[in-house]
Amino acid sequence: MAYQVYSRTYSVETRSRFDVIRITEIVESAVRESGIREGHVLAFVPHATAAIATNEYEPRIVEDYVAWFKRAIPPGAEWRHDEIDDNAHAHIASLLVGQSRMLPVSEGRIVRGAWQEVLLLEFDGPRRRTVFVQVCGVGETRTP
Ligand code: ZN
Repeated sequence: MAYQVYSRTYSVETRSRFDVIRITEIVESAVRESGIREGHVLAFVPHATAAIATNEYEPRIVEDYVAWFKRAIPPGAEWRHDEIDDNAHAHIASLLVGQSRMLPVSEGRIVRGAWQEVLLLEFDGPRRRTVFVQVCGVGETRTP
């Protein structure tokens, strides 16, 4: 039962300055392709103005997420970094949410709740974003 690592990079286009994109299927497809049955999967964005989270993806709550970020960390609120490229709010939001999530993999599937989707959060789009997915574990299910 050898430990395996499977890595894959995906490209995702975001559609507006603030955006929330469901990437659950991308992560699940990497887990399937890996053949790994027990372990974990990492979803990571190599970006300083985007983030990865897990939560519900329903149109109204997605609007609420965006409204909350705009209220809590308003774009253009006299941030010092805005003198450089006008996106300090995006760096702060990315810093707070984090640029990766790790999820358990069991019986060849991501372990997640019914309302837990894997989300790419865009704070300074539209842009082409890279999502790096790495699955680590073993290819057999351990039976107790
Ligand atoms: Zn910047």
